[in-house]
Amino acid sequence: MIEVRLAAVRERIRAAANRASRPADDVALVAVSKTFPAETVREGFAAGLRHFGENRVQEAEGKLPGLDDLRGQGLVVHLVGHLQANKARRALSLFDRVDAVDSVELGERLSRLALESGGEPVRGLLQVDLAGEATKHGVAETEVLGVLERLREASGLRLEGLMLLPPFLDDPEEVRPYFRRLRELRDATLERGLLDGRELSMGMSHDFEVAVEEGATQVRLGTALFSERPPRDVREGG
Ligand SMILES: *Cc1c(COP(=O)(O)O)cnc(C)c1O
Repeated sequence: MIEVRLAAVRERIRAAANRASRPADDVALVAVSKTFPAETVREGFAAGLRHFGENRVQEAEGKLPGLDDLRGQGLVVHLVGHLQANKARRALSLFDRVDAVDSVELGERLSRLALESGGEPVRGLLQVDLAGEATKHGVAETEVLGVLERLREASGLRLEGLMLLPPFLDDPEEVRPYFRRLRELRDATLERGLLDGRELSMGMSHDFEVAVEEGATQVRLGTALFSERPPRDVREGG
């Protein structure tokens, strides 16, 4: 079942990349497995998926230890939801990437923890809030350059691009301007030497084709791969 859905998703990514004259392998697939059991991750991994996304530290603590055997085989787990400062240390022991760095304070804390542990810098993305939505986390567009300048000093953190959770709009075409703005913002920050990569994490199940057309290098897909989620469906949180 996952094989069939995955093949269909890959074909849609390929077609969207093609429309934008982009190579399809420029677009990574992050399978968002939140609320699904560890077994679902294992099935996805067997089908060829390598990058997975979870949005809660507590849920990941229950799920990821059972998947330790896949770590050495290429499993990469992204934290795609808001991280509370007091859970940063736990998060670093669970996740390979922090894709929703949404404040200077959080970025500095992650950097400090990485330096203290003497390990590799934390790899992640800066989450941007382009619509000024009170319910969403993320750095306001006007503050992105300032935040990145400050986080440039945080040597234990490597920000490799930008991440967007745009407003949910039924018609994905209406989301296109947000995707385009994030790409322009990425280009402007790259030009100023403020990012360590060119990643654009944008596009979810209902709008990923538009995101790919606008330059996404990572799409985050849950329902398109795994079907409807078990009841809890909180997009952001702990
Ligand atoms: C749940 C979630 C997704 C995936 O959503 P789908 O609509 O199921 O594809 C992507 N990104 C984030 C941050 C999420 O929380």
